[in-house]
Amino acid sequence: TPHVGVLALQGAFREHKHALERLGARVTEVRLPRDLDGLHGLVIPGGESTTIGKLLVDYDLRNPIRDFHARGGALWGTCAGAILLAREVHGAPKQFGGVQPGLDLMDITVRRNAFGRQVDSFEEHLHVQGLTEPVHAVFIRAPIIERAGEGVDVLARHGDDIVLAQQGRLLACSFHPELGDGDALHRHFLTLAQSA
Ligand code: GLN
Repeated sequence: TPHVGVLALQGAFREHKHALERLGARVTEVRLPRDLDGLHGLVIPGGESTTIGKLLVDYDLRNPIRDFHARGGALWGTCAGAILLAREVHGAPKQFGGVQPGLDLMDITVRRNAFGRQVDSFEEHLHVQGLTEPVHAVFIRAPIIERAGEGVDVLARHGDDIVLAQQGRLLACSFHPELGDGDALHRHFLTLAQSA
């Protein structure tokens, strides 16, 4: 069974932990660089990307997570986590001069809070490339992946907008899979982590 971590600084990490444990994975809550030791993958959960980003800086976690990925670890960013994986973020608040701290790893451009106030949150069953069953996706003040670079595979869209993408051992989704029914994406991530 794979041993994976869930970044536990802020946001919806407990739901991810439970979903992964239900699949038989060993799960560690990651708060310090040494918590990454021995892991095969790390989930960066939804929440508030500016808060999580600031805590990543305060706890000196950014380079350890980048090194973890470079050594072969899989990373999965969901909602705010996808924002933190992105190389480019649109809609960052002014207090950060338009550039909020993140991991700067995945060749995607993400727009924060892209669905506007009228549709703050919604749910949808998404067709995901490579999966036979649809994925129950819960979107909460969700970002959109506006651009996916050449090495990035688009795995699902909401209308025309990219909401799930993969680049090697990096997986990013706009929505909260841990709040929906079903565990297909958590299984996909464990497969990715296991092959890492
Ligand atoms: N709106 C949040 C952000 O931009 C993300 C929301 C979420 O993770 N549910 O950080």
